[in-house]
Amino acid sequence: MSLNAAPEISFSSEQGKANYEAAKRRYPAQAIVDLAALRDNMRHLVDVVGGTHSGTAVMGVVKADAYGHGLLPTALAALAGGATWLGTAQAHEALTLRKLGIGPDRCRMLTWMYNGAQVPFDELIANDIDVSVGSLAGLDRLSCAARQVGKPARVHVKVDSGFGRNGFTEENFDEALARLAPLAHEGALDIVGQWSHLAVADAPDVPEFVESTERQIERFNDFTRRMEAAGLAPRIRHLANTAATLSRPEIHFELVRPGIGLYGYEPDPAMGTPAKYALRPAMSLQAQLGTVKDVAAGHGISYGRTYLTDERTSTAIVPLGYADGIHRSASGFDMAGAKHTDKPGGPVRVMTADGPRLFRVSGRVCMDQFILDLRGSAAELGVHEGDTVELFGPGRGEAFAEPTADDWARAADTISYEIFTCLRSRIPRLYLHASDVFGPADLARLNPATLL
Ligand SMILES: *Cc1c(COP(=O)(O)O)cnc(C)c1O
Repeated sequence: MSLNAAPEISFSSEQGKANYEAAKRRYPAQAIVDLAALRDNMRHLVDVVGGTHSGTAVMGVVKADAYGHGLLPTALAALAGGATWLGTAQAHEALTLRKLGIGPDRCRMLTWMYNGAQVPFDELIANDIDVSVGSLAGLDRLSCAARQVGKPARVHVKVDSGFGRNGFTEENFDEALARLAPLAHEGALDIVGQWSHLAVADAPDVPEFVESTERQIERFNDFTRRMEAAGLAPRIRHLANTAATLSRPEIHFELVRPGIGLYGYEPDPAMGTPAKYALRPAMSLQAQLGTVKDVAAGHGISYGRTYLTDERTSTAIVPLGYADGIHRSASGFDMAGAKHTDKPGGPVRVMTADGPRLFRVSGRVCMDQFILDLRGSAAELGVHEGDTVELFGPGRGEAFAEPTADDWARAADTISYEIFTCLRSRIPRLYLHASDVFGPADLARLNPATLL
């Protein structure tokens, strides 16, 4: 019998169980996404802005394949939770959602990346997708496309309130307004919104960050006043990401744009844990162990010999590597007392005969695998090839000792966002609670082989 460090799955049907077994045969690791958690996180974010009739709408940000959680299932779960907008960075993701049947009758969509002349503004306009523009060249191209399609382009004017990325600056905004006014008058552009992005997740204990956010808000309001004075008042202003949605009600305006909160994480562990914000991490990442064997004391583990076994021990292979998106920077160094910097690797929950234990990546993460030093005999621990281990999950309880994506972020010196978005598509995404969250029509849009 193989041990399982991940929680038991309650399958919705025999087919769900069969799908799980098939996924394990196809690949020795699985990313399991709880659709009910996604829906509930969105419900909570809608509550945070005062409910569906508060005058503030909520956009589920589903860029980058919904932060690695899967574009369509996540988008549908966000809508089930009360989002009335979806946002993607890339045009093709918004177009994909429209093609998959999420029409303008169900939600507005905004997309904001564009490059040179190739962006398919015509298709975006034809598909009722709102676009962001923050450059004079962008305005020209968009209005050309609108004239060709014969339909006004719905525009959100991007302003640079201090982030230093996209958007019109305070200096070139008069020129932008002078260009926008006749285009709006002609009917080529429908000026729907004005928006900007915040540079720091609110860190109430860092006065410098609080101050820079307040300056961004002041500048944002200045831009609004300039649009109003030019007769181009935006109907929808939006500035808040997850951090500001949770901590700055005064800038909820007509729309907020949470991303990471939908996935169940706080933007920065310095703000506290997800539970503090009533959020529940939606994704768990698990894998089945490869070779488990005994090795002698002083044995080097993996490339570069950055890890030497302390004493006689057993090792186990976890069949996930940097080609799966496991950060090489989450490698673990331990030179058994030799002069060297020790560094803890990413954590893995392993079930042993005595209950769950956390082990850490031992040595360097390889392309397709990494190694765990079990710090003892596998036979005595009851650890075997084929056992299911868990890299991260919702972070259940002390006794459960479940690592989270924040723990992996710490080990890899990055943020949870990057942990999720790096997970490659070769890891199967499997979904829990689809039939609890979706009615028959949405259920039918999903790949049935992915539902547990
Ligand atoms: C990614 C993104 C968001 C969401 O940010 P979170 O920190 O994940 O809430 C909002 N707005 C824009 C423009 C973004 O690029």
